[in-house]
Amino acid sequence: MNVYDSARMAELLAPLGYEASDSPDNADLVLFNTCHIRENASEKLYSELGRIKPAKAEARNHGPMVVVAGCVAQAAGEEIFRRAPQVDIILGPQTYHRLPELVSASERTRMTTSRPSKTPGMIDIAFPDEPKFDALPAPKNEGPTAFLSIQEGCDKFCAFCVVPYTRGAEFSRPVASVLAEAKLLVAQGAKDIMLLGQNVNAYHGEAQTGQEWGLGRLIRALADDVEGLERIRYTTSHPRDMDEDLIAAHGEVPALMPFLHLPVQSGDDGVLKAMNRGHSRDDYRLLVEKLRKACPDLVLSSDFIAGHPGENDRAHENTLKLIADIGFAQAFSFKYSPRPGTPAAAHDDQIPEETKNKRLFEIQALLKDQQAAHYAACLGKSYPVLFERKGRYEGQLIGRTPHYFPVHVSAAESLMGQSAMVQIASVGTASLGGVLQHDPQSTSPTDPVHFDSPLATETLQERPSC
Ligand code: SAH
Ligand code: SF4
Repeated sequence: MNVYDSARMAELLAPLGYEASDSPDNADLVLFNTCHIRENASEKLYSELGRIKPAKAEARNHGPMVVVAGCVAQAAGEEIFRRAPQVDIILGPQTYHRLPELVSASERTRMTTSRPSKTPGMIDIAFPDEPKFDALPAPKNEGPTAFLSIQEGCDKFCAFCVVPYTRGAEFSRPVASVLAEAKLLVAQGAKDIMLLGQNVNAYHGEAQTGQEWGLGRLIRALADDVEGLERIRYTTSHPRDMDEDLIAAHGEVPALMPFLHLPVQSGDDGVLKAMNRGHSRDDYRLLVEKLRKACPDLVLSSDFIAGHPGENDRAHENTLKLIADIGFAQAFSFKYSPRPGTPAAAHDDQIPEETKNKRLFEIQALLKDQQAAHYAACLGKSYPVLFERKGRYEGQLIGRTPHYFPVHVSAAESLMGQSAMVQIASVGTASLGGVLQHDPQSTSPTDPVHFDSPLATETLQERPSC
C-alpha cells in the first residue's frame, strides 16, 4: 500500500516540477512515506531523518524540504516537529492528495521568510470526508505488474494493531473508478494487477446500479471487462471476510491466480480470542478446505505473530501444529511489537523478548521448510511465467509463476512484459530457475542457473509495510 501511495505522491508532485532523484543528497525535497505497524518500522523514520540533518543545518528553510507522510505522521503528528525540527510538512495517509498545496505554500514561505528557523512547519493529519482517490491524478505505471488500491482502513480493531487508528475507517472505492483505473493500467502495459487494501476482501464498493458489490463480484467484472488483464491477485485479506462468492471465484475465474495471502496470526484459539480476530483455528482450517476444494491448485501465504501477550508454550505449539497441518508456500512472521494505544500493549502478560525470539525462530524454520518443499515440487514442471524485470546477470530475466513464485530464466530482453512457458530446472532458497520451453537458444535444464540474491529478502524477512 505504501508503494502505491508513494507512486501517487510522486505523480502529485510532478506538475510542480519535481521528479525522482537518485539520492537524497541531490534532492530538493525528501519525502518519507512511513509505516507504523511495528516499532522497528516507525523508529526507522527518526534514524533516516538524522541522516539528512547535516544537509539541513537543523533548521527549516535550509537544504531540502522534508515531508513526513504515512502512518507514523498520522500517529505521531506534532511530536515529529519536536523530535525533528528540520521537518517542514507532516501529512497523514488520508490527506496526501493535499501534498501539492502544502509544498507550494512551503516553497512560498521559504522565498519570503528571513528567519528560517522560526518558520512554522505545516501539518495535515485529518480524516477528510471526501475520499482522496477523487483528487488523485491518473496513475502512470511501467512494466507488466501494477498495484491498484481498492479499499482502505479497517473497522476490525485487532488487539495488537494500529491500522484502524492510522488509516481510519473502512472505505471501498466505487466499482466504476476501480474498473477505469484497471483499464488505464492495462492500456499502459500492465498484465498482472494486485488489488490492494488493508482488508481487501472487506471490499463493498458501490456499483453504478447503486448496489454494493463484494470482492468476488468485482474480480469477475475485472476479468470480463478489462481486456488484456491476464492475472488478478489481491492482498491482504481477512479470514472473516472470505465469503462464498469470493471462494467460488477462485474456482471459476481463470485470471484469478492460485495464490492467496490469508493471514491467520496464531493457531491457538485463546490467542485468537485475545487478538480479537473473530474466528477460531478450526474456522480457518475449514476455510482453507473450502478454498482448496474450489481451487485445488491454490497455494497459501500467511502472517504470524510470535509472542502476542498471553501466548504460552502450548499456544505456540498450536501455532506450529496449524502451520504443519496447512502447509504454506510462503509467509511473513513477526515478533509481537507493542503499539501505543492498542489494547494488547496494555495487557499484563507481555512475553519476554528471548521467548519471542525463540518462538519466531521456530515458526520461521518450519515455514522455510514448507517454502522449500513447495519450490522442490515445481522441479521439472512447466508454468506460464510473466517476465517482470531484468536479473542481475546478463541475458537473465525474472518473472513469476501463477503461484507468485519468482523464476530466473535466460531469455531475450524482448520477452520482458510477456508470458512464456518455462520449465523449472533448479531450486534456490528464495526463487526458482527455469528454461524457456520451445526455445532452441535457451540453456538446457541441466545448465546452472544464477540466482539473483536480493529476492531472498522477499520471503521470510520482515515485510516493509502493511
Ligand atoms: N489486515 C491484515 C493485516 C494487516 S497488518 C489482517 O488482518 O490479517 C500486516 C501484518 O502485520 C499483520 O498481519 C500482522 O502479522 C503484523 N502486525 C500487525 N501489528 C503487529 C504488531 N503489533 N506486532 C507484530 N506484528 C504485527
Ligand atoms: Fe484490521 Fe488487519 Fe489490523 Fe486486524 S490486523 S486491525 S484486521 S488491519
